[in-house]
Amino acid sequence: MPYFCRMQDSYKHKGLRKQLIQELRDKGIKNEQVLSAFDAVPRHFFLDLAFLEQAYSNMAFQIGAGQTISHPFTVAFQSSLLELKKGDKVLEIGTGSGFQTCILCEMGAKVFSIERQKELAVKVKHIIKELKYSPRLMYGDGYKGWPVFAPFDSILVTCGAPFIPEALKTQLKIGGKLVIPLGEGRVQRMKRLVRVSETEWVEEDYGDFSFVPMLKDRAK
Ligand code: SAH
Repeated sequence: MPYFCRMQDSYKHKGLRKQLIQELRDKGIKNEQVLSAFDAVPRHFFLDLAFLEQAYSNMAFQIGAGQTISHPFTVAFQSSLLELKKGDKVLEIGTGSGFQTCILCEMGAKVFSIERQKELAVKVKHIIKELKYSPRLMYGDGYKGWPVFAPFDSILVTCGAPFIPEALKTQLKIGGKLVIPLGEGRVQRMKRLVRVSETEWVEEDYGDFSFVPMLKDRAK
């Protein structure tokens, strides 16, 4: 059996997770709920075999269909910005590998997640089942949000959006937060919008990040 076996969580993997958590702390992640979720969710389960040895380095990787699993720091940073409480309803746009989805589940959120790439939307179901989380998943277009389950306490976009979709703003509760990387091209600005009333949102800026683009409509 290879030393790094995909669905096996060894002491070595657990040790590497502790190192990654220390690295995240050193980079400024303070939210203990986020850090303990990183301890609980085995990131190596979400990567193809070729990348197993690097699963706990702070890197992004290909996950198929031309998409990537986000950097651990990015996942931790976005998760912290949500300031989640247990039981919060969270909508994620861009299920991708499912790693961020599982981090949110582990943090006690009720998670809804949309993915526009069929291949990824199918692949992710197996791993999430394996880890015994139960988010609701949809193969669809994140620009539309998920109106039947709205309003949400938080909405987390994990791809670079050329503009802030109106549907996502209006599917937030009053007091709810939308975390979204905004901009076209290689670099986006991380924005957090807080809905302060029916008609007002306050926007905050959290600096440069790099994501794959948010594309329209479902892909086959
Ligand atoms: N949260 C993921 C990040 C994956 S990268 C993870 O932790 O692995 C971003 C994902 O957003 C990709 O899988 C991409 O296919 C998806 N995506 C892009 N545009 C989208 C859209 N309009 N609706 C839903 N998902 C979208």
